[in-house]
Amino acid sequence: MTKADVKNEMLEKDEKYVWHSMKPYKPDATMVAKSAKGSWITDVDGQRYLDAMSGLWCVNVGYGREELAEAAYQQMKDLSYMPLTQSHEAAIKLGEKINQMLGDDYVVFFSNSGSEANEAAFKMVRQYHQQKGDHYRTKFISRYRAYHGSSTSALAATGQAQRKYKYEPLGPGFLHVAPPDEYRNNHSEADRWGAEEIDQVMTWEYSESIAGVIMEPIITGGGVIVPPEQYMKEVKEICEHHGALMIVDEVICGFGRTGKPFGYMNYGVKPDIITMAKGITSAYLPLSATAVKREIYETFCGDDTYDFFRHINTFGGHPAACAVALKNIEIMEKENLFDRSRDLGEALKNDLGNRLQGHDNVGDVRGKGLLIGIEMVEDKQTKEPLAADQVNRIIGFCKDKGIIIGKNGMTVAGFNNVLTLAPPLSIEEEDIKLLLDTVVEAIHSIG
Ligand code: PLP
Repeated sequence: MTKADVKNEMLEKDEKYVWHSMKPYKPDATMVAKSAKGSWITDVDGQRYLDAMSGLWCVNVGYGREELAEAAYQQMKDLSYMPLTQSHEAAIKLGEKINQMLGDDYVVFFSNSGSEANEAAFKMVRQYHQQKGDHYRTKFISRYRAYHGSSTSALAATGQAQRKYKYEPLGPGFLHVAPPDEYRNNHSEADRWGAEEIDQVMTWEYSESIAGVIMEPIITGGGVIVPPEQYMKEVKEICEHHGALMIVDEVICGFGRTGKPFGYMNYGVKPDIITMAKGITSAYLPLSATAVKREIYETFCGDDTYDFFRHINTFGGHPAACAVALKNIEIMEKENLFDRSRDLGEALKNDLGNRLQGHDNVGDVRGKGLLIGIEMVEDKQTKEPLAADQVNRIIGFCKDKGIIIGKNGMTVAGFNNVLTLAPPLSIEEEDIKLLLDTVVEAIHSIG
């Protein structure tokens, strides 16, 4: 059997047995991955791809690290399972390590996915207010274009209409405001870089009905929207003024993606709750965490039967996932991957900016660390998003050259005109150069 035959046979079975997410099934566009090492994936047909999206923005230390496989193997031999209704060593060590990274005043609740980490956060925030006697504080504010997960409340918090279409009504009590998109909205000091709208919504909705705000430091899936420096600080002050808690969704921005251990650390704020997933294990095993300020946690320690957090998660904080997370963080620190992300990302963003500056369809190049968005437009004056077929041509051009890049944006509901790059933080410099040259060539290929 040739490699092409092997692939065709796989694709036939794939079509028959596997329900893929997000798009209609297209065998000719489907990679059937067989192996991966570093930043490169190999298809069953032998074709190699540079994964400049780290899977779904998550393989932060790159593929094929034996130390991570060994950490899981060793942990499974020692203790294959223990729910966190009890405790185990790996979860304790990981809780301590995350605390050390965050500044040592958080208590950590473990789940399996980003959606679950956010669901836990919403429940904790509502319960916290109840326990403080603030019975009316139930509503959350998030931003349009942001994605917070696929489960019902996380999807309700999401500000991308097309993802909710046919699934509504979702959980009530989620309100949305405009993101601080400097390229499109031109926010200024006068409206506190867009934070003003949050202040107004809280006031109009009645301050005492607002439970919290959820935000990514940099909106990722909504088109890499990097906020003005002061924005998060402004939002935090507004939350404090109205008595609402700030949840920061670090599912993508965490673990070095933006050049710091966590994205919020770029902006001088101290969130009340921090949710994280993806890069926590570099996606070697499923794990997520909701880190909660100790003083909030303490309100869950009362003697009343309904004071504790009545939320169970069979696999959350699985010993093998915690052991992998610990080893993953050790690798990040040993290889200085946070600084590497900052420096390589800055250089890549500048090189893209310089080489694409004169191109009529490149509206903006932005990002932080190895998280970069290139906003494609029909016209630089009107900023009308570039047509979908053109965006797809650029992505197809890269794929044909063996490079996987992403598209996001939601500039108009359901419309993705922002090319996204989020390679492993361990990407080799020669692969960064290949990525840069290929993306520039692909954009020039459309005219
Ligand atoms: N939050 C953000 C910012 C995300 O990007 C995602 C997933 O892409 C989630 C939450 C949900 O994470 P999961 O897919 O692990 O449930």
